[in-house]
Amino acid sequence: MIRKTRLFTPGPTPLLPAAQFAMAAADIHHRTAEFRTLYQKVLAQLKIFVGTQNDVLMLSASGTGAMEASVSNLTSPGDRVLVLSAGKFGERWADLAKAFGCVVDVVKAPYGETFSLEEVRQALKADTRAVFMQATETSTAVRHCVQGVAELLKSAHSDALLVVDGITGLGTTHFDVDGWGVDVMIGGSQKAVMIPPGLSYLSVSERAWRAMATSKNPRYYFDLRKERKNAQKGESAYTPAVALIAALGASFDWIAAQGNGDLEKGRVLLVENAETCAAMTRAAVEALGLKLFAPSAPAAAVTAVLPPEGVDSGVFVKELKGRFAAIITNGQGEMKGQIFRIAHLGLFDYMDTIALIGALEQIAVDPLKLAGFEFGKALIAAQKVYATRSPLEAQSRDCGCGRSVCCLTRSATMV
Ligand SMILES: *Cc1c(COP(=O)(O)O)cnc(C)c1O
Repeated sequence: MIRKTRLFTPGPTPLLPAAQFAMAAADIHHRTAEFRTLYQKVLAQLKIFVGTQNDVLMLSASGTGAMEASVSNLTSPGDRVLVLSAGKFGERWADLAKAFGCVVDVVKAPYGETFSLEEVRQALKADTRAVFMQATETSTAVRHCVQGVAELLKSAHSDALLVVDGITGLGTTHFDVDGWGVDVMIGGSQKAVMIPPGLSYLSVSERAWRAMATSKNPRYYFDLRKERKNAQKGESAYTPAVALIAALGASFDWIAAQGNGDLEKGRVLLVENAETCAAMTRAAVEALGLKLFAPSAPAAAVTAVLPPEGVDSGVFVKELKGRFAAIITNGQGEMKGQIFRIAHLGLFDYMDTIALIGALEQIAVDPLKLAGFEFGKALIAAQKVYATRSPLEAQSRDCGCGRSVCCLTRSATMV
């Protein structure tokens, strides 16, 4: 058969055709009224997508650029910060904070798990200037409880700023950025918003702006105060990624259209879509007889799966690509060979999910010859999840954090 290339990777993700057309037509200069109209439109849409009244800024950089900006703008050399780390991206926070001279405390959870809030409470010091965490740790497919950490900071009367890498959390998790008191929420273009890499965005609270006035780390290209001043005039400080900004606007228009013209509704739908694709995939791989790598706090952004014993996870990557042109990802760093990861964030639907599960069944039968497996088992499990999963059910699930109103149940009041 012919093979259609499809990305099932947690960034870059499949591109939205409407966004690609917008990019191709984005032949405009960035110091013109046309650009200012576009920039202001997309900044306003970003506020709705992030779900905040705070300023939202865009930077011409991949997600790590906005991570670096939040460290360089909010800290001074010698500041104590707390990093919550359970994978490669948590480790990136620690590396960044060290690079900018911070004294870095780390609360660690084993790969495949989320951290204990009690440990976070104990690691929080009176002089902790900021807490850095992921909403979802893409390298291990774990969801962390942002709300739990935010509430903990409030109940401990901590002055620490809460900085969240929501790069794969946005569009796959419900957040209440302002209600919970998230000071910085970071996103990236090549994830749930379905456009190419190269653009990052972040929301910045009033508290964070005040902290910036006294922070002394060097910054130039990523000086957020300069970006804010320019954004207020509808411009960026330097030449922006014009085509990506046009693409982002088209993507938000499309997400809004999914919600009958309401971007907030569209965003909720996008999250629930990822939840459904993830739940179908989890049920399917378990029906194959495989184990989930992060069963206790699974992210909706991506699912990580352990291969059968004695099998390198690269076999799944290679077979899916070679036979079906489906691109999934191996484990990152030392997790290579140990897990494979299937993404659900952005432009994945029922058809994509079912097709990938069908391909996994082919691999289970040949070459893996998984014991006791027959065609249909994984598909039946996924079909049942899809058939029984109403939006209401999605709302009553929680992320395992044990709170009565969890980050996932938020949508009950929002839809
Ligand atoms: C993709 C991703 C990043 C950003 O990586 P870039 O390569 O700089 O775009 C950061 N954090 C998480 C959780 C991610 O998934």
